[in-house]
Amino acid sequence: MDIQALEAFLQERGEPKFRLSQVRQAFFVDFVPAWDGVTTWSKALREAAEARIPWNELEPVKTLEAPNGDTVKTLFSCRDGKKIEAVLMRHEDGRNTVCVSSQVGCAMACAFCATGTMGVKRNLSAMEIVEQVIYYARWLKPKNERVTNVVLMGMGEPFANYDNVMSALRILNDHDGFNLGARHMSISTCGIVPGILKLADEDLQVNLAISIHAGTDEVRSKFMPVNQAYPLSKLMPAIKTYMEKTNRKVMFEYLLLKGVNDRIEDAQALADLLGPDYRLVHVNVIKYHPTELFDATGKAERIAFVHQLHELGVPATHRITFGEDIDAACGQLAVQEVGGETKQGLDAVRVVRQKA
Ligand code: SF4
Repeated sequence: MDIQALEAFLQERGEPKFRLSQVRQAFFVDFVPAWDGVTTWSKALREAAEARIPWNELEPVKTLEAPNGDTVKTLFSCRDGKKIEAVLMRHEDGRNTVCVSSQVGCAMACAFCATGTMGVKRNLSAMEIVEQVIYYARWLKPKNERVTNVVLMGMGEPFANYDNVMSALRILNDHDGFNLGARHMSISTCGIVPGILKLADEDLQVNLAISIHAGTDEVRSKFMPVNQAYPLSKLMPAIKTYMEKTNRKVMFEYLLLKGVNDRIEDAQALADLLGPDYRLVHVNVIKYHPTELFDATGKAERIAFVHQLHELGVPATHRITFGEDIDAACGQLAVQEVGGETKQGLDAVRVVRQKA
């Protein structure tokens, strides 16, 4: 839904302001799926609006549901035909977390990530980000459930699309609309320092997660090109500034890649990096979905890695991953859809990896 276009439409027709509120109620609160559902409007007004303004910015083109029902992944087509994806994770404790994309593709080229093979095509608009959440809110409504958490951890680097991401989070937070608490929303970054510092000054207290994946520049630079621009000597002070300004805990994501960053000395390096200055942190150790490029660390080694972090005084958990059987890791579904571009991307990553 293009809200600005709707405002212009209503203004042109001299409609009262409450017409906009009626649509907002239908869209963000009642989760109606189409213009027909705006029953507070006359049929003629609905039809005139529909001719000008599509109800949805995104069209679902493929949905995969894990056999146990804990993960639902959807591939969407944007109005310009670009493909993005979002994932719903249904936790046993009743939380429903939606992992959304912020860009079509991603320029950050992390070697372990399917999206990183695509390059970046464009930023998503605020409403394209919001509608990924609304789609799952509609999906959950017949089950009398709602979206409880949103994470910007899908395709794209959120801080490379900072303004639209923040607008989207404010729309989702709007008390007269979707009304999701800021503390239920998280931004995950690969380590864009200016974005971290900017977020520290926002009045919206969303959570911050850092894709750290290594405790030294040497290891991190092997698979995260962003580490050249923002090495740990720049990243960690920015995180410290963020924590001092916001007094909020920071999550560190650590994906275990077999033989690359999963040794005991890697756990030690991470503990040294976090050090006593960074006690307001938590490390999520994550199982990797194996690809052609990297193998996943086995379960026993993952548990040993977490145990080692505990021994070193680092708060850490072994995060349960969702949807391995439906390619739910970042970008895997969209990448399959772009065919040739993907192969080129994978070839490029292989070259980067060989050089590292
Ligand atoms: S992991 Fe995130 S930042 Fe890195 S390439 Fe993938 S989408 Fe981009």
